[in-house]
Amino acid sequence: MDQTTRQVTILGATGSIGQSTLDVLARHPEQYQLYAVSAHTQVDKMADICRQFKPTIAVMADEASAAQLKSLLDGQGVEVRGGVDALNEIASAEQVDIVMAAIVGAVGLMPTLSAVRAGKRVLLANKETLVMAGHLFMREVAEHQAQLLPIDSEHNAMFQCLPNDYTLGKSDQGLARRGISKILLTGSGGPFRETPLDEFDHITPEQAIAHPNWSMGPKISVDSATMMNKGLELIEACWLFDVTHRDIDIVLHPESIIHSMVAYADGSVLAQMGNPDMRTPIAHALAWPNRIDSGVEPLDLIKVSQLNFEIADEQRFPCLRLARQAIQQGGTSMAILNAANEIAVQAFLSGRIKFTRISSIIDQTLQHLPSKETDSLQEILSIDQSAREHATSLIATMNI
Ligand code: NAD
Ligand code: MG
Repeated sequence: MDQTTRQVTILGATGSIGQSTLDVLARHPEQYQLYAVSAHTQVDKMADICRQFKPTIAVMADEASAAQLKSLLDGQGVEVRGGVDALNEIASAEQVDIVMAAIVGAVGLMPTLSAVRAGKRVLLANKETLVMAGHLFMREVAEHQAQLLPIDSEHNAMFQCLPNDYTLGKSDQGLARRGISKILLTGSGGPFRETPLDEFDHITPEQAIAHPNWSMGPKISVDSATMMNKGLELIEACWLFDVTHRDIDIVLHPESIIHSMVAYADGSVLAQMGNPDMRTPIAHALAWPNRIDSGVEPLDLIKVSQLNFEIADEQRFPCLRLARQAIQQGGTSMAILNAANEIAVQAFLSGRIKFTRISSIIDQTLQHLPSKETDSLQEILSIDQSAREHATSLIATMNI
């Protein structure tokens, strides 16, 4: 095994994926060194990370949080900075080998793109980047020969089950030519898979973020509850593996032991299995093509005993239907879907709207804004903004 120490930047170090990444890094101090970390405004948590891991640079989203962190870290030898430029710099700095893109939401796009443009190994957790600008993002991956590795557990599983030389960012690989008949995207169905539909109006944020199998940040937890997460993952898979949504079947698998599968022409179906713990895909992508210890409990199949499968119900989960609709419309529809979803989920989490309003806000925003084909990042960012404004105005006129 190659023994050089890799320098790592974690964008979103205080989040759920950020914490799991730190846990894996701490198990391999000779192989990985933390170069830089970033966070939004969680100053205390960031100070703890800096004291334990001693990165060279820590970046907060704004100058005020940076000033607070600086005073907490006085004398620790960590350079503290604030703002978007600093974020882009730690993603692209020359000494960095690996960038974990684990900021939540569309704000993660620009720093992730900076890492791609600098040709880094990019560990992509931030699925919103691909949903809003997949076409552009994958083109930049190819152009700058960045090494993209999927962290989303399903996409990491697909990557592990696809042929070894299946290159992300290389277009037109042709599933059929590779003997692949289908990609099977699995999902647990979230906490409301069996909840009576007439109770959906009364779902609280606390119930929605209590996922049965995974421990995650609040936004993705709500996405899992509406199943928009599976819709976003469908779009993510199309861009990552250069396939169409017809190449992918969604299969509900409540135990979350299989993380996705690839079906081949000869009848073989390869599945990647493991306990539902994000440290597995993180360790896989950090060390790829090698394997390292992740700290995840070995899978006890006797204890699991049964694996079940069901079809995904688009009546119960209208967000799934909306995501398919956005894929079919193409162009900027997916950016609109993503932006409206982010606004609606925030409004639900802060108690401003009911759970069932999330899908209607996205639906109405998609209907209001025309979809366009575009190659311009500027245009995508401006459409993202318009969708946010429209969704916000819809919420303002709603009486919960
Ligand atoms: P989280 O909410 O726990 O953490 C988000 C991180 O982003 C935090 O470090 C936060 O400080 C930072 N952040 C938030 N807003 C920011 C802003 N405006 N500017 C700069 N930084 C900001 O989220 P998470 O669950 O860790 O998810 C991160 C990403 O990974 C999401 O895109 C999610 O969809 C994806 N993902 C997460 C999981 C999981 O198990 N948690 C699984 C698959 C994919
Ligand atoms: Mg996932």
